[in-house]
Amino acid sequence: MKCFECAAELKVVRENRRYKECGLPNVVLRNIEVRRCPRCGAEDVVIPRLEDLHRLLAAVLLRKPGRLASPEVRFLRKSLGWSAEGFAGHMGVARETVSRWENGHEQMSPVAERLLRLAVAHETPVQGYHVRELAAIAKGESAPLQVTARLAESRAGRQRGRPRPTAAAAAGSHSWELAQAV
Ligand SMILES: [Zn+2]
Repeated sequence: MKCFECAAELKVVRENRRYKECGLPNVVLRNIEVRRCPRCGAEDVVIPRLEDLHRLLAAVLLRKPGRLASPEVRFLRKSLGWSAEGFAGHMGVARETVSRWENGHEQMSPVAERLLRLAVAHETPVQGYHVRELAAIAKGESAPLQVTARLAESRAGRQRGRPRPTAAAAAGSHSWELAQAV
């Protein structure tokens, strides 16, 4: 594989990477493929099954015991495919209120936060998530959650006892798992 910038041969390594691009400050992806150019330093981070990863992150945030931090509110709103305008409409608040929730100038009310979590649970069904869990949330601090995720062989693949997939097919039978959430 050649570098797009300088055409030198890329070096492929596996590393833990902070996934800041998702908008959440503390998400670490374990052991993912990074293609780095030894000459110019350009790098390409390979994140397979992105949708699956975002579903996992949404599911983790739904169960967060404390209040949602502002980047988490934005992440969940985007995971619903809602614009800020649409979010304001669904929640029955002004567009400026959404801005304040998402830039940290105002904390969502506990009622609004439950509504957001319910919408996410409804739109991207999360296995075993029960409305009961909402009673335990929306208390305490709103520090962003620290999440570590790893790509693991999917349960379906393991159950069928298939032989280990080739690297090319691997992404298809793997799914993102939660390694740690603090
Ligand atoms: Zn290069």
